[in-house]
Amino acid sequence: MNPAPRKIYGLIGYPVKHSFSPVMHNAAFGYLGINAEYKLFPVKPEELAAFFQKDIIVKDTNGNDARTKDILGFNVTLPHKERVLDFVCLDPESTYLNQIRAINTIVRKDGICQGFNTDIAGFQWHLTEKNFFNPQGKQVALLGAGGAARAVTYVLAKSGASRIVIFDIDKQKSKNVVSMIKGIFPDSGISCVDTIEQLDILNKDLLINATPIGLKQTDPCLVNREMLHKKLFVYDLIYNPLETKLLALAKKAGAVVSNGLGMLQYQGALSFQLFSQTQAPVDSIFRVMGQALRQEIDRL
Ligand code: NAP
Repeated sequence: MNPAPRKIYGLIGYPVKHSFSPVMHNAAFGYLGINAEYKLFPVKPEELAAFFQKDIIVKDTNGNDARTKDILGFNVTLPHKERVLDFVCLDPESTYLNQIRAINTIVRKDGICQGFNTDIAGFQWHLTEKNFFNPQGKQVALLGAGGAARAVTYVLAKSGASRIVIFDIDKQKSKNVVSMIKGIFPDSGISCVDTIEQLDILNKDLLINATPIGLKQTDPCLVNREMLHKKLFVYDLIYNPLETKLLALAKKAGAVVSNGLGMLQYQGALSFQLFSQTQAPVDSIFRVMGQALRQEIDRL
């Protein structure tokens, strides 16, 4: 008898090659003895509809083919977190998910794609872990108003941040996030501005980067030294590179900093539970993923 074929999971987005997700998920599959592999699938915006609507062949980053319908579960990264809403079903009981309208995890079952958001719990866990940073009553400046920013602002508003100010190069996107949050938390002090200077970071407690600026070595730093101060906590969602220009500059200014590695690890453990339907506790998956991540970082 032929053995069952190896199940395929992965990440879709553009770009995807910076991702540490395969390292984490493949370690967890190995730990639980599941015959499955997690791969990276670069999918351009113009290819997204066909990815969901047709059973096409896509290439992973190693050049191997996969049929889209055989990819049983996948994470979603930039720039697709909002657009995938057109192609998935949301849990009708997840009122907040219907309002946030950003998805980072999709599970395909009986031909139907169901969407989830584990970025929310991932960011919440990492920011507040061991009292890392408690947003209650704090003033926040946020760069970016895309899919990840939707999860971030939800956590901040729910945790009682007193003010959240957003800057995105696309003002309409910032406005959409503001009205999304106002729809869920009408008393939230959230607003958006036209320039980075208007974020008034000198009078904020927390600065978050939820843009992709910093992923590439050639990217500029979005802020300058004069905008930063030593009582600031600076959180960059980017984890590869581990230290972006923003974090390096913030450190020089005496600020406390964090990259997004912890968020990645926690959201990954939760996504893995959804993919594998395992009963294994999130803590054990998180631990296995953490070991794999550390080995990968040492290797780089
Ligand atoms: P996204 O949906 O593409 O959103 C990024 C937003 O930033 C877009 O609205 C974009 O505008 C805006 N932007 C681009 N350049 C800008 C600039 N110079 N100034 C201000 N805004 C700018 O991406 P995403 O999915 O939210 O991801 C954002 C970042 O978070 C990525 O680096 C991603 O890797 C990271 N992330 C990390 C984790 C983690 O677990 N650590 C989880 C989620 C996301 P345009 O669309 O007009 O370009």
